[in-house]
Amino acid sequence: MNTQPTASHFINGAYVEDTNGTPIDVIYPATGEKIATVYAATPDIIEQALTAARAAQAAWGAMTGTERGRILRRAADIMRERNHDLSILETYDTGKPYQETSVADATSGADALEYFGGLAASLTGEHIQLGEDWVYTRREPLGVCVGIGAWNYPTQIACWKGAPALACGNSIIFKPSETTPLSALKVAEILFEAGLPAGLYNVVQGMGEVGAALVTDPRVDKVSLTGSVPTGRKVYAAAADGMKHVTMELGGKSPIIVFEDADIENSVSGAIIGNFYSSGQVCSNGTRVFVHADIKVAFLNRLAERLDNAVIGDPMDPETSFGPMVSKRQLDIALGYIEKGKSEGARLVYGGNAIDGKGFYMQPTVFADVTDDMTIAREEIFGPVMSVLDFTDEDDVMARANDTEFGLAAGVFTRDLSRAHRVAANFQAGTCYINTYNDAPVEAPFGGVKNSGVGRENSKAAIEHYSQLKSVYVRMGDMEAPF
Ligand code: NAD
Repeated sequence: MNTQPTASHFINGAYVEDTNGTPIDVIYPATGEKIATVYAATPDIIEQALTAARAAQAAWGAMTGTERGRILRRAADIMRERNHDLSILETYDTGKPYQETSVADATSGADALEYFGGLAASLTGEHIQLGEDWVYTRREPLGVCVGIGAWNYPTQIACWKGAPALACGNSIIFKPSETTPLSALKVAEILFEAGLPAGLYNVVQGMGEVGAALVTDPRVDKVSLTGSVPTGRKVYAAAADGMKHVTMELGGKSPIIVFEDADIENSVSGAIIGNFYSSGQVCSNGTRVFVHADIKVAFLNRLAERLDNAVIGDPMDPETSFGPMVSKRQLDIALGYIEKGKSEGARLVYGGNAIDGKGFYMQPTVFADVTDDMTIAREEIFGPVMSVLDFTDEDDVMARANDTEFGLAAGVFTRDLSRAHRVAANFQAGTCYINTYNDAPVEAPFGGVKNSGVGRENSKAAIEHYSQLKSVYVRMGDMEAPF
């Protein structure tokens, strides 16, 4: 596959290049080899994108929702037809195994395009009767949206932001992560091919400075970021200065509580999906696994047996179930946390090492006897490092699970129905799971509380974050005035 894109940016319906920008090497994480080069957007490229997005938006916003939706649904169909090639490209970009990318990336992007394409026709305001007078609300687009992505789900993020923005009649400029710049260009190509008018979905490449230049531009009305909490703070503050709408999808350190009556096999599956899918590079991962002391040994034994079945290797091989980390930097961060875990007294029970050879591989890693104050139990690692903590009492574990600055997700495994719902109600998290983990269907709202974010993506809730209501007052009789 030719992984070098036609050009670095996609603006106003066409590929655009400006080699004056800083070159960004795209590295295949499985080998460490360079597979493409893109150039960071120059001020001229940023200007072109903003001008195009601004110019195209009004006519798009004036179309009917049915017309807009038809284009999005057509794009979803094209995306599904090309799933194989898009998945290969995503694997090159991220290093995630084809076994995952073929079912979780372009497919999830297509789901978002289809879902919001379907919803577009039903977006309405409401009629509010006030005696014989009345008010009606118009649901209007925000204008120009900026989407800024992380590197773990590049296609998905490009669609999760683009689909609701476009369904609501906005235009969007998307800046992918500099680590994974390739697949968003394919999303733009597909939307254009499906009939999206030029200028409505633009992609510009670059590091944080390019994102910052977009966020601070007065022509931008909304910013949606997927990234870390420190970046979120900066972007939120910059957006606040211009009083822009924001959605912040940030990091987490989510808990999974496994009670003594839980099905061990299912809870081990939850812990595996919630720690090792995408080599642990998932924002909602349940990296603090609280296991009831009565079943701790059984849980850890079964977990180790199941981890022995992980197939670590060439991500293009459909049998491979555990790929490399996205970059040398991310590998080093995760290995650094493993050293910290050991030095602070956690007991390493599985893995713990980098894997020699080409690429950025490491072993799935489990620490037991982790305590709440240890660094590995407090900070987001964003790698395949699971911390297992002991507990015996529900109230106590609940307080410990919630004792974190984050609040993205949380899971509970138990056969006790009342306890499951009680725990879910008491979790301080945007998404909770009962006897499952890390599902993220487009039909359900997704987002964080506390430092994990602001706003919700997916579902009907996302419409509120990509449109605004205008109230129109209508008086049927004469109007009164004091003089
Ligand atoms: P990051 O914060 O380093 O970067 C995210 C994006 O922000 C990148 O595109 C980057 O170029 C851009 N950026 C950096 N500084 C900026 C600035 N000052 N202004 C504008 N843009 C700027 O995050 P990352 O390392 O790419 O991704 C990992 C993080 O993302 C983790 O914390 C993870 O939890 C989080 N994440 C969250 C979700 C979610 O939905 N909640 C999903 C995936 C990843």
